[in-house]
Amino acid sequence: MDLTRTDLYLDGQWVTPAATDTIPIENPTTEQVIGTVPAGTTADVDRAVAAARAAFDSWAATDPADRAAALDRLHTALTARSDEIARTVVLELGAPLRMATRVQAGLPLTVLRGYVELAAQPPPGQLVGNSLVVHEPVGVVGAITPWNYPLHQVVAKLAPALAAGCTVVVKPSELTPLVAYLLFDAIDEAGLPPGVVNLVTGTGPVVGEAIAAHPDINMVSFTGSTATGRRISHLAADRIARVALELGGKSANVILDDADLGAAVKAGVGSALLNSGQTCTAWTRMLVHRSRYDEALDLAARAAEGYRTGDPFDPATRLGPLVSAAQRDRVRAHVEQGLADGARLVLGGPDAKVPERGHFVAPTVFADVDPDSALAQEEIFGPVLAVIPFDDDDQAVAVANNSRYGLAGAVWSGDDDRALAVARRMRTGSVDINGAAFNPLAPFGGYKESGLGRELGTFGLDEFRQTKAIQR
Ligand code: NAD
Repeated sequence: MDLTRTDLYLDGQWVTPAATDTIPIENPTTEQVIGTVPAGTTADVDRAVAAARAAFDSWAATDPADRAAALDRLHTALTARSDEIARTVVLELGAPLRMATRVQAGLPLTVLRGYVELAAQPPPGQLVGNSLVVHEPVGVVGAITPWNYPLHQVVAKLAPALAAGCTVVVKPSELTPLVAYLLFDAIDEAGLPPGVVNLVTGTGPVVGEAIAAHPDINMVSFTGSTATGRRISHLAADRIARVALELGGKSANVILDDADLGAAVKAGVGSALLNSGQTCTAWTRMLVHRSRYDEALDLAARAAEGYRTGDPFDPATRLGPLVSAAQRDRVRAHVEQGLADGARLVLGGPDAKVPERGHFVAPTVFADVDPDSALAQEEIFGPVLAVIPFDDDDQAVAVANNSRYGLAGAVWSGDDDRALAVARRMRTGSVDINGAAFNPLAPFGGYKESGLGRELGTFGLDEFRQTKAIQR
């Protein structure tokens, strides 16, 4: 199978890139190259930004109902490609097909549908004394995204940016760019005006930096590692461009003594292992009251053992490979470090059996993890769970907040008020109580080094707007 794509999408059409270099795309399950995409250059970025800049005034002035209609056509064109999207994510990322269908292909459609509605209802001007306060699109947006939820992460930027009246240059991860091509096939079919959305594939140091540093890009919306987020902030700061950053996490799942332990541990293991642990919101630290600690460890080991590792197209598989050999090696190094630092291995580890071919790491559970150790502090981005005991609610909150990150988290308790009190004290952008459902309209984003700004719903839309006061 050859999924090679040779073009970039600039100014409303598929065009030949400025240079001929390409990037190979590997299937992490088979370790075979399944195609190539262009390694874009600064010349391609310049062309994309010029197209987005030229399209901006007209798109910003387009009737909101017409922008909503364009997003609606995109939703239709993307829905028609759902199966192909799910299969492509399996091929380039290794996510199990069922999860890829439900989350990787399904979630972006839900998010886009929400923005079809929000695009049609822009905020009215407000009167504040003698001022008319109006909300205007921020300008040309650069969207730089990672590989772990490759379509969702693009759509969570593109849809609100377009709804707000911005034009966009997208740079997907060089590890998983193929699904972005399907999105741009849909964009082409939906007939968005030329230049409103543009695709430049390539590496972070070349295309990513060219976008982040481009004088004609007014805002950079980035999802990925904290280290890259810091670099992008520096580049954008030179021209005072706006940045929105969705970065790493090391989220705590706080299980109080009166919790439904079975449900709490099952959901906690599920969160830690979803997408082979390559999820920024994963609850990678399980904090359990000491009175229930041994029972929880036993339940966690049994739950994690049930995550069958293997071919992501096999319906019985719940854990696919990691995205790349480099990522697998990073995760393995973290596991070795955990052992060296004295954590107790309960399941998995370096010697656990995994398929020989493919970048697999076995589901791994550590007990007695020192809250200050690397295992409890570093974002591992693999199927590794650290279980930590605590003695009372105050200590649980202190351990949960002992992190430079603050993206997500959970609290479990039989007493809703007690759970809410703990949730309020957690320094993190979102907390789920007793397994409450993900809400795609709720603000999504981080405290501390987990990021700046919020995505999703009206909160995500406001990131792409600026306010103006007109005095009369
Ligand atoms: P990354 O931050 O290196 O890459 C994310 C995106 O940024 C990619 O499109 C990449 O090409 C681009 N990029 C890289 N360097 C850049 C630069 N100097 N300027 C501009 N753009 C640049 O992340 P990664 O390599 O995909 O993953 C590395 C680690 O990041 C993971 O192990 C994980 O810990 C973390 N991560 C977090 C999230 C999240 O959602 N919070 C997502 C993916 C990865």
